[in-house]
Amino acid sequence: MLITGGAGFIGSTLSERLLERGRRVVCLDNFCDYYDPQRKRRNVAALLARPGYTLVEGDIRDREFIRQLCIEHRFDTVIHLAAQPGVRLSLEQPQLYMDINVNGTLNLLEAARDSGVGKFVFGSSSSVYGDSGEIPFREEGPLNPISPYGVSKRTGELLCRNWNYLYGLNVAMLRFFTVYGPRQRPDMAIHKFVRRVMRGETIKLFGDGSSRRDYTFVTDIVEGILAVVESDFSLETYNLGDSSPVELGRLIATIEKAVGLPAVIERLPDQPGDPSVTYADISHASGNLGYCPKVGIQEGIERFVRWFREENL
Ligand code: NAD
Repeated sequence: MLITGGAGFIGSTLSERLLERGRRVVCLDNFCDYYDPQRKRRNVAALLARPGYTLVEGDIRDREFIRQLCIEHRFDTVIHLAAQPGVRLSLEQPQLYMDINVNGTLNLLEAARDSGVGKFVFGSSSSVYGDSGEIPFREEGPLNPISPYGVSKRTGELLCRNWNYLYGLNVAMLRFFTVYGPRQRPDMAIHKFVRRVMRGETIKLFGDGSSRRDYTFVTDIVEGILAVVESDFSLETYNLGDSSPVELGRLIATIEKAVGLPAVIERLPDQPGDPSVTYADISHASGNLGYCPKVGIQEGIERFVRWFREENL
């Protein structure tokens, strides 16, 4: 199977798990410098020697390269995680998000159709809900993305739906909710907060601390993806979240406790593009897949801090 973005945070954790289960994995990644590419090299270093693992360096924006790759390997399954992530940067560079997240996804869908891929799994995001006004977020509920990133993910979903309708490609769209854990991207809140608390640096908090996020531990997300890959589907959308949103103030307190140091906080106004709450209704994934997140926020933060210390970050 092909995992795009396989050297990243979620993709490398997923690859490890798939290899453990005896699956053959081709990882495609362009090691872009959105954050230090050396971290991505580290993520895949231990995998390179494992039987059944192949690393291919390349860009999903290169249509002909993607087509050739899929024709050469005849993948049964594609798990498409390569993307330009990050809400804030998407306000500054919307074009980049459309190029990678929309056109890149289109290239993969076309290649999947041409090469007879059996299952196409798309890594979407809770940001497609934006400030939809209805919580918890249900897959069939209203969508109102409020950032170019959210719009790019929603457009990717619509392309997947269309390839299912036009060409019968089996597609599953997975809406991940704020994923954290070892290897988490350094631009994400938990990673940034832990780093700053450890160094005694100021944390910038946007809003009054009451915003809530449905933080989901990476191993729970990976188990959800595995369950999808092993299920039969034609057209499916699943929320993969923890379904227990945590207030920003409580998150900070949990980090202070795990690190053993107080946070120095600077309060700033709300940021445009950030919704006030994310909250997954996971009944669809629970019912169909037996999806059941296991790692709560306290244990998850402790595990993240332990990893952070081991890595000497
Ligand atoms: P990540 O940045 O660690 O992983 C993405 C990988 O894609 C990186 O290794 C990057 O080098 C690669 N990539 C980027 N552009 C590429 C291109 N043009 N061609 C080939 N490879 C490219 O991010 P992540 O947090 O692991 O996210 C994985 C997926 O999950 C993304 O699609 C992201 O939008 C989605 N997602 C993540 C979260 C989260 O909380 N981490 C939440 C919702 C959705």
